[in-house]
Amino acid sequence: MFDIYGGPVFNMARQQFLQAADILEIPNDQRDRLLYPKRAIAVTCPIHRDDGSTVVYEGYRVQHHLSLGPSKGGVRFSPHVDLGEVAALSLWMSWKCALMNLPYGGAKGGVRVDPYSLSHKELEALSRRFMQELIPFVGPHVDVMAPDIGTNEQVMAWFMDTYSNDAGRTVTEIVTGKPVSCGGTAGRREATGRGVTHLIFRASEEIKLNLSQSSAVIQGFGNVGSVVASELYDLGVKILAISDHTAAYHDPKGLNIPEILKYIATHGVLKGYSTEALIDPATILTIKCDILVPAAVERVITEEIANKIECKILAEAANGPTTVEADAVFAKRPDIFIIPDILCNSGGVTVSYFEWVQDLQQFFWEEEEEVINRMKKIMDKGFYETISSAKQLKTTNRMAATCAGLRRVHLAKQARGLFP
Ligand code: NAD
Repeated sequence: MFDIYGGPVFNMARQQFLQAADILEIPNDQRDRLLYPKRAIAVTCPIHRDDGSTVVYEGYRVQHHLSLGPSKGGVRFSPHVDLGEVAALSLWMSWKCALMNLPYGGAKGGVRVDPYSLSHKELEALSRRFMQELIPFVGPHVDVMAPDIGTNEQVMAWFMDTYSNDAGRTVTEIVTGKPVSCGGTAGRREATGRGVTHLIFRASEEIKLNLSQSSAVIQGFGNVGSVVASELYDLGVKILAISDHTAAYHDPKGLNIPEILKYIATHGVLKGYSTEALIDPATILTIKCDILVPAAVERVITEEIANKIECKILAEAANGPTTVEADAVFAKRPDIFIIPDILCNSGGVTVSYFEWVQDLQQFFWEEEEEVINRMKKIMDKGFYETISSAKQLKTTNRMAATCAGLRRVHLAKQARGLFP
């Protein structure tokens, strides 16, 4: 059924769904409507390249459900995007929002493009065209977009401006993750990485790990990975290795993260930073460390890698980094405390929710006192609910978190009926 969502990423989400549905004893006839997205929209986005030629990019937006409120989720610009991947990411967003008790269904979008190959002007044209094509299907109370891989605050500003020009008024609440100068919230850019670091701190309390004497390895050095690296570095954690899609570096004495952040600010990518510390990127996840943070793409931790990983905390900053087969290995490895993706990276959508609330009210909050503290409070609730329910259900942290999210969506659908 629904072959259009085929592919390894959606298959992985489907298997996770079936495991959780079995634990929750959801009847078979109720399952398909909880698994398959409400809507999937495919668009073509033609733009003029700087050389005068015309090129067309394929784009998708998948709205998983609208049972708890508007759908919510990021848009990624990546050469590997396909409909199955976007659908899987929308499913994970649904469970994440419900786990954190946010009034949203899940959504995700993507354009199949290498954003690093576009000029600033071409990126603007593509961003505006993608939003233009989706205007009939989105809205502040229908579907709200945010940044993800390959998109950023500037792309969100172009999305918001395109939607606003069509509406004839400024509609800041149509997207989150915007610059503060045009309706963004203080603390959104750093929110996902800060939230990941906060839960690493909570996990370290659980397993009695002294963070200031610990070490970390981080895969992915974009919006999320670079903030985690910087926050952990400030807490005294030795950052042994980092990587992005261009290079990977390892220094057993610890990398100088502030210096690397300065390098990234001018060069955009890690390539060229060092020749001495250069390593094979394929080896990064199996370097011995206390805290391992995959913060790049999905399905990087396979069964083979799971057997070789030597860490105490696995903090899944990326969405879907661990395959179902790798999870089966981790189920037999109580030496690793896993903070599952839908919990670990939920600081991003939580602060996106704050941004949406502030935009709707046109009333803005202080970063430290209101944004960060409220985010930590909501994340703490999700964290302790997950670990206590994992003990109660005798299952993994991932299944406990998935069950909590899925249960809330299921209850809302049962109460409302078949439409949303
Ligand atoms: P980004 O585009 O800012 O950064 C992605 C990073 O991953 C870049 O450094 C890129 O070079 C690197 N990368 C890509 N492919 C790689 C590979 N094969 N090996 C090593 N590095 C690779 O994206 P981001 O916003 O930091 O997102 C990272 C992850 O976090 C994604 O899984 C995303 O879905 C998830 N996430 C992001 C947010 C957010 O607020 N941005 C929120 C929740 C979850």
